[in-house]
Amino acid sequence: MQSEAVRPDDIFKCAMCGECCKGYGGTFVTKEDIDAIAEYIKADHESFVSKYCEISGGKPVLARGSNEYCVFWDKMCTIHSVKPRMCRQWPFIKSILADTDNWYVMAGMCPGIRTDVPANLVRECVAMELSKSG
Ligand code: SF4
Ligand code: SF4
Repeated sequence: MQSEAVRPDDIFKCAMCGECCKGYGGTFVTKEDIDAIAEYIKADHESFVSKYCEISGGKPVLARGSNEYCVFWDKMCTIHSVKPRMCRQWPFIKSILADTDNWYVMAGMCPGIRTDVPANLVRECVAMELSKSG
């Protein structure tokens, strides 16, 4: 794989399997995330947090249903256009810049992640995506 040809789209394509919407560490939501989702589903900030969030480490995360999936998962993300920043960034997340091994570990649960890509190119793609999202 030539460095100049590698773009984030080349190393990740979502297979829409929903694995990342299930359990794990929880999806943190910022105030901006909450405002956007609450407006989308026509709820106010407070009722959104009490109805659709759990508190983890003192911060709100999206609640999970009895099936362990995010409450907004129903064969697909039902809030796709306003999904939280954390979901939009996946799998181009900061912890990969700290340790690129995380990319290959994440690939164990995410079939959209390519593992036949050298670490330096993964790092370039992650840095590229993170620079876009600020
Ligand atoms: S686990 Fe990966 S492939 Fe599956 S829905 Fe999540 S991002 Fe897409
Ligand atoms: S908000 Fe959407 S993308 Fe994010 S965890 Fe929930 S269902 Fe998945």
